[in-house]
Amino acid sequence: MRIPPPDSPQANSRTSYTPRNIKLRKINGFTCISFWKHLHLRHRQNEHQMGKVLIIGAGGVGTVVAHKIASVSEVFGDVMLASRTKSKCDAIARSIGGNRIKTARVDADQVRELTELMRSFKPDLAVNVALPYQDLSIMDACLETGVSYLDTANYEPEEEAKFEYKWQWAYHDRFKEAGLTAILGCGFDPGVTGVFTAYAAKHHFDEIRYLDIVDCNAGEHGHPFATNFNPEINIREVTQKGKYWENGQWVTTAPHEIHQPLNYPDIGAKESYLIYHEELESLVKHFPALQRARFWMTFGEEYLTHLRVIQNIGMARIDPVLYQGTEIVPIQFLKAVLPNPADLGANYTGWTSIGCRIRGVRDGKEHSYYVYNNCSHEAAYKETGTQAVSYTTGVPAMIGAMMFMKGIWKQPGVFNVEQFDPDPFMEQLPLHGLPWKELHDVDTEL
Ligand code: NDP
Repeated sequence: MRIPPPDSPQANSRTSYTPRNIKLRKINGFTCISFWKHLHLRHRQNEHQMGKVLIIGAGGVGTVVAHKIASVSEVFGDVMLASRTKSKCDAIARSIGGNRIKTARVDADQVRELTELMRSFKPDLAVNVALPYQDLSIMDACLETGVSYLDTANYEPEEEAKFEYKWQWAYHDRFKEAGLTAILGCGFDPGVTGVFTAYAAKHHFDEIRYLDIVDCNAGEHGHPFATNFNPEINIREVTQKGKYWENGQWVTTAPHEIHQPLNYPDIGAKESYLIYHEELESLVKHFPALQRARFWMTFGEEYLTHLRVIQNIGMARIDPVLYQGTEIVPIQFLKAVLPNPADLGANYTGWTSIGCRIRGVRDGKEHSYYVYNNCSHEAAYKETGTQAVSYTTGVPAMIGAMMFMKGIWKQPGVFNVEQFDPDPFMEQLPLHGLPWKELHDVDTEL
């Protein structure tokens, strides 16, 4: 294994941090190195201003966001959780307890329903953890009612499996004129991966040239087939063609055509597949020196075999078919019979490991850098009742909301996370359950 174990002397052998700047902590059973060196750089605008937040979506990610927001009462004042099915919001609110969370029913496809809710609750920020289909209607409602916006996945039309930032970037001028902030893609990937990249560019390189985002789920949930987040969105994402950025243009591959084993810290070698992922689009725009940017995700043989069968028998279709006189969309029917990702946590064991492997230049010399988080499914479940994929998405969404409420990531317009200062966000990650670790000048394998 070429990636050294995280605690080996080699792992941080080239770090420029002195022991005085480093605190070792145990979170999630995982040794975390928090770098306090940058604390003095922290912005101090509007410190401890309590804000009102509306969370939309009561699935796995919504559960984590609600838990985490409720736990930071010095930043978040009133909290409302609204979704299509109010009983799910009520169950989450009950599990948090303490009358901390108000609940409501809303159909987030309907701008009018959203504006009514926003006018009565008057949030400062709407955190959208419903589905990507609702991004634009929620942004429209925010503009109408003067509410800022944050999400974890970019817009995708329901009738076409094609996610792109162009629809949401087109809102920039309107948000700017309204004096409102929209923070796009603030989960883990997209989200922390963009912050990791911005942090690397700010502190470790003069120019970053090669970026490989590596996403490993080495967990076992005990089902023959299940997806870790919304099955419809997940299957649409992983069955599309592969795509990566090289020498100023996009290169397209057949689905799962390029793959190789990669070594993940504390996990070992896992077959990793090149897929297209949405943050590549914004990262190559905001880091134009990138000569190549790719995204890799691990899949087990069993998962891929099921996926192939699902596609071959037409169950991944997103167009309606007539069944006994009623129109149904096969992938939506499939979602109804698959395990609910929010319920997978109870028997989930193992770890996720997501990070950025970067090569570039500093002071005329080539360097490599690997920054990552490992998250335990069991620890995530113990804390919030959900598995690590929901957890690693929900925690950064809460931290992004906190950055906004504190006035640190607050700028009129529409922004991707890598456009903001990464330091205050990186400081918060380990404090809220997502410790990160960095390795310098190791073989990135890619
Ligand atoms: P779930 O399917 O578990 O939850 C989605 C929730 O949104 C459900 O409560 C659902 O309601 C609600 N919802 C759907 N449509 C509407 C609507 N029209 N109006 C109101 N509520 C609605 O999904 P996840 O929690 O797994 O994922 C949430 C989001 O997070 C997705 O957009 C996903 O793409 C994103 N994500 C991002 C990641 C990242 O790292 N950036 C990683 C993983 C997920 P109901 O319960 O009634 O169905």
